[in-house]
Amino acid sequence: MQKINVKPGAKLADYKAYGSLYSSVLDFMEQAKEPIESLRGRTIWMINSTAIGGGVAEMLPSQMRILRELGVSIEWLVIEAEKDAFFDLTKRIHNAIHGSGNGIFTEEDRKIYEEVNQNNLSKALELIKDGDIVVVHDPQPMPLAAMIKKKKNVSIIWRCHIGLEEDTEVTDAVWKFLEPYTNDYDHFVFSLPSYAPKSLQKRTSIIPPAIDPLSHKNRELQLHKCIGILYQSGILDDHKAILYHRYKHLVRKVMPDGSFDFLDADKNLDLIYRPIITEISRWDRLKGFKELMEAFIKMKLDNRKNGDPKSLEYKRIEMTLLVMGGPDPAFVSDDPEGKEVLQELTETYKDVDSNMQNDIAILLLPLDNPKENALIVNALQRTSSFIVQNSIQEGFGLTATEAMWKRKPVLVSNAAGLKYQVVHNKTGQINPDPTDIESLSKTMAYMLNHPKERDKWGFNGQLRVIQNFTLFSQLLSWLETLSKNKA
Ligand code: UDP
Repeated sequence: MQKINVKPGAKLADYKAYGSLYSSVLDFMEQAKEPIESLRGRTIWMINSTAIGGGVAEMLPSQMRILRELGVSIEWLVIEAEKDAFFDLTKRIHNAIHGSGNGIFTEEDRKIYEEVNQNNLSKALELIKDGDIVVVHDPQPMPLAAMIKKKKNVSIIWRCHIGLEEDTEVTDAVWKFLEPYTNDYDHFVFSLPSYAPKSLQKRTSIIPPAIDPLSHKNRELQLHKCIGILYQSGILDDHKAILYHRYKHLVRKVMPDGSFDFLDADKNLDLIYRPIITEISRWDRLKGFKELMEAFIKMKLDNRKNGDPKSLEYKRIEMTLLVMGGPDPAFVSDDPEGKEVLQELTETYKDVDSNMQNDIAILLLPLDNPKENALIVNALQRTSSFIVQNSIQEGFGLTATEAMWKRKPVLVSNAAGLKYQVVHNKTGQINPDPTDIESLSKTMAYMLNHPKERDKWGFNGQLRVIQNFTLFSQLLSWLETLSKNKA
C-alpha cells in the first residue's frame, strides 16, 4: 500500500476567477459549509489501485486539493500487487460488471483476490484511525473493507465507477462473487441509478463523475500552444515554432509494419491543416476502437465511390485524419488486456490499404508522465473537429465530458453513461449501436460536413458540463454522502 502525495494546484480563487464557473464555486462554498463542519476530526481515506491513468486517478487530486483548502482531512492510498493473476482477475471482474466475459469466478480467484488485499492491509491499519471514513474505489481493493473493519471502527463506502443498465447472467454471476465483500460496506456510490444491483439500492447514492476544468487536461490552451505541444511530441509535421522541448519523444506511434516507434517530428502527420476525428481511451475492447477504425475507412471509401471530387464535402472527408490515442502499454501495470487489445488493433491497422494508413494514427501516450500526458490529450482534443467515444459499454465517459468542456461536439454510442452525458442533436450525436459500422460512418460524415451544427453543439456541451459535471457539483454530493455515513 502506498500513500500518494498530491501536488499543489488550482485554488478556489482560481476557479472563481473564471466567469463561467463563478456561480458554481460560490454555490458550492455556501452549501459545503455544513457537511464540512460535521466531518471535523475525521480523516477521509480514498483507496484505489493506481495513481496514474483512468478516471479515478484523474479526478482524485483536484478533489483532494479543494477539500483540503476547506479544511477537510483527506488522504489517498493505492494498493500494490505484484501478481499479474490479480490484475487479470480484477479485469475480468471489471468486464463482468459491464456484462462481458464468461462470468466464471473460482475459489482460486477468490484466494488471489483476498491474498493481495491482505498483503496491503497492515499499512492501511497503521494509518486509518477509529472514526475515519474509508472510500474504496472499484473492485480491486474491495475485500479490504471486511479486513479493516475487524480492527477499526470506521465507516466504509464502496465507490463503483462502472456498471451496466440491465442485469445479465454475467452481471448476476459477478455480483454473486462479490457479495461476501459488499456485505461489509456501509454505503455505496454508483454513477447512475440503474448501475446499482437491486440488493444494494437502498444503501446507494448516485454521483456522476465530473471533470476539473482547470487541470492540465482541461485548462485553456491557445492554438499556438496546442501546436507547440503536438509538434514537440512529434505528432505534428513541419512546424517551425520551437516552444517547449519537454514533450519530445513522449508519444510513440504504431508504424504500418506493426512496430512502435517514436515519431519523427520532421516527417510525420500533418494534423493542423486537416480535420481530425479523435478517440482517446484505454485499449479496451469495450471502447470500440476497432469498429471506429472500420467505420472511418468505410466513410472514406464511400466518399471516393459516391462523392463529387470537386465538392467541399468530398475534400473534407478525403482530408480527414483519425487519431486513436491510448496509454503506452509500457507504463500501464494494472491492465494486462490492454496490450492484447492494442495488438489486435495494430494487426487490423497493418492490413489497411497503405494510402489509408496515412490517414489513421494510433498513438501511445505517456501515462507515466501525467502532466505531459494531460497536455497532449488536451491539445489533441482541442485541435479535433469532434471527439468520438464509441464505447460498447461505458459507466460514464470522462473523455466525452472533457471534450464538451472544450466546446467540442461529441459523437458517442448509446452506452448508458454516455447517453446521460450527451444530449442528441444538442451537444453532439448519439449513434445507437457502436458496432453498426454503416451508421457510425454516416454520422461521422454528417458531423464533418455540418460545421455550424458542430459549433452549436460545442457551445451547448460546455454549458451542460458547467451545470452538471464539474468537480463542484460532484464534491457537494460527496460531502453530503460522507456526512450522512459517518461511523
Ligand atoms: N486518458 C489519458 N491518456 C490515455 C487514455 C485515457 O489521459 O492514453 C484519460 C482520459 O482523458 C480520461 C481518462 O483517462 O480522463 C479515462 O476516463 P474514462 O471515464 O473516459 O474511461 P475509463 O478509463 O475510466 O474507463
